[in-house]
Amino acid sequence: MAVLDRAIVWLLPAIPKGVVRRLSSRYIAGPSLDDAMRVVGRLNAKGKLATVDVLGEEITTPDEARAITGQYHDVLARIDEEGLDANVSVKLTGLGLELDLDLCRETLEAVVIDAAARGNFVRIDMEDSSTTDRALELFRSLHAAGHENVGAVLQSYLRRTSGDLAGLDNVRLCKGIYVEPEEIAFHDADEVRANFVRCLETLVHQGAYVGIATHDEHLIGEALRIVRDLPPERYEFQMLLGVRPDRADELVAAGHRLRVYVPYGTHWYRYSVRRLQENPKMAGYVAADIFGRVFRR
Ligand SMILES: Cc1cc2nc3c(=O)[nH]c(=O)nc-3n(C[C@H](O)[C@H](O)[C@H](O)COP(=O)(O)OP(=O)(O)OC[C@H]3O[C@@H](n4cnc5c(N)ncnc54)[C@H](O)[C@@H]3O)c2cc1C
Repeated sequence: MAVLDRAIVWLLPAIPKGVVRRLSSRYIAGPSLDDAMRVVGRLNAKGKLATVDVLGEEITTPDEARAITGQYHDVLARIDEEGLDANVSVKLTGLGLELDLDLCRETLEAVVIDAAARGNFVRIDMEDSSTTDRALELFRSLHAAGHENVGAVLQSYLRRTSGDLAGLDNVRLCKGIYVEPEEIAFHDADEVRANFVRCLETLVHQGAYVGIATHDEHLIGEALRIVRDLPPERYEFQMLLGVRPDRADELVAAGHRLRVYVPYGTHWYRYSVRRLQENPKMAGYVAADIFGRVFRR
């Protein structure tokens, strides 16, 4: 990454929220459920599946966690009513993980039960490494209780991930986005990629359904090789709203299932910062936005 990009990544939290909001609008469906459903409808019309995320990792009270949970019930109902091809992705922090583990277990289970009643599915996003054990424990306890419509996410940057694969039958595999220390996470991009490939091979070998969540052309190529002999119902590619939509179109045209992650809601800030920090062209966008406003003045 160039020096200017690194500096802007570092400075992003200091950039005015209005600028962050403008620059990140491509990654977020909008503030309301209607916005999300409109985007999902458009994606479905292009042969793409969706997974809807109610943005909420910034919440600080149990009431807010319950409100986010309520929004998930609304999402599931609307998907059902409108016959959309979409499931939901939940962040456990939004369901109260850092406030009260029992509250989180209760809210998560309620969403999973609601989804099952509607023939739908819940993906538990993976957050930073302080939450990994709790996320996997919650996932495994739901499975043990007979809930099969729930899946986990694993991150190939974590050194532990190859040891977490056993017994999992439905996994989204991604690189991982949080800042983690080198003792527990690969920092070298090639090592993260190599671990992604190894984990994907293991998951396919053990018969798991895999969500291949990457926009990295090298990994897409490796994944196409690994799934070459699998029937299409054994895997799906996954991409984020606003990232490489043309490549997603190509994968759909080639007959692969492709799911787009569609976040919406009013708690947009942290998600937006993460997406901007990953965008290789972000420094230029930020500079253009700020200078553009200065010159307009
Ligand atoms: C569907 C989905 C769900 C995810 N869920 C999780 C999760 O639960 N937990 C977690 O830690 N991480 C999650 N991630 C994020 C993931 O871990 C990576 O941080 C992210 O996908 C970027 O890695 P990459 O494999 O796309 O490779 P990169 O090397 O980062 O990107 C490859 C190329 O994609 C393009 N690109 C990538 N990001 C952007 C961007 N923001 N804006 C514009 N272009 C971009 C660029 O062309 C870049 O060169 C998810 C990703 C996806 C696609």
